Amino acid sequence: MNTSAKELLKSYGAPVAAGVAIFSVDEAEAAAKSLPGPLYVVKSQIHAGGRGKGKFKELGPDAKGGVRLAKTIDDVVAFSKEMLGNTTVTKQTGEAGKQVNRLYIEDGADIARELYTSLLVDRTTGRVSFVISTEGGMDIEAVAHDTPEKIVAVDIDPMTGVTEANIAEIVSTLKLDGDAKADAAKLFPILYKAFTDTDMSLLEVNPLIVMTDGHLRVLDAKVSFDNNAAFRHEELKALR
Ligand code: GDP
Ligand code: MG
Repeated sequence: MNTSAKELLKSYGAPVAAGVAIFSVDEAEAAAKSLPGPLYVVKSQIHAGGRGKGKFKELGPDAKGGVRLAKTIDDVVAFSKEMLGNTTVTKQTGEAGKQVNRLYIEDGADIARELYTSLLVDRTTGRVSFVISTEGGMDIEAVAHDTPEKIVAVDIDPMTGVTEANIAEIVSTLKLDGDAKADAAKLFPILYKAFTDTDMSLLEVNPLIVMTDGHLRVLDAKVSFDNNAAFRHEELKALR
């Protein structure tokens, strides 16, 4: 699920980590070697979120979770051995968990900051809004509850799409500068285009990260599509 949202955004030109899916431990070393390094992420490729905090049924309670950072290729191989074939239990899988038949080996990012970005349709105006926050990487409901002033909505006029003024507001709210600011000027229109082109009802990028090299990357993304997309499409066309 998460990967397909990222794949979709990647096809629109959003910056996501390079990665390789593997189905057996034999493939782990070659997969890691095809990536730049020196940091790798080994992910349980199951259709459920919360993998990072997930646990393996067959491993002890102190074992690492379903998303693991590896600093060497040997670690990638060792983690793959531990994870493949075993069962990840996350908040979303229920007690039975999900068997891990596929891993995703990703280029690891050195994270400087974790931000939150989503896109949704404001029901009252029919307009698409970005909802953004400097407080990424955690549950946005908790941020909304504890520090609502840290969540900002930026409405997009369907006649203009994402304007420079919108970008300026987003950049200042998220406190972006340098390469991250330049990346944002490309990324936010990309997110908007992906959202409107494919009739999404919700697109959530959490976290959107600023890496220590100064660039932005979509670390994790989730997408929902409108059940009544055809109707909404007509509605939006009428607004345009
Ligand atoms: P989820 O738990 O199923 O939502 O899986 P995620 O893809 O969100 O990964 C879980 C967590 O692992 C993230 O929230 C990060 O804290 C961490 N993580 C994932 N990828 C990277 C990475 O490239 N670098 C670092 N430093 N941490 C990562
Ligand atoms: Mg996540």
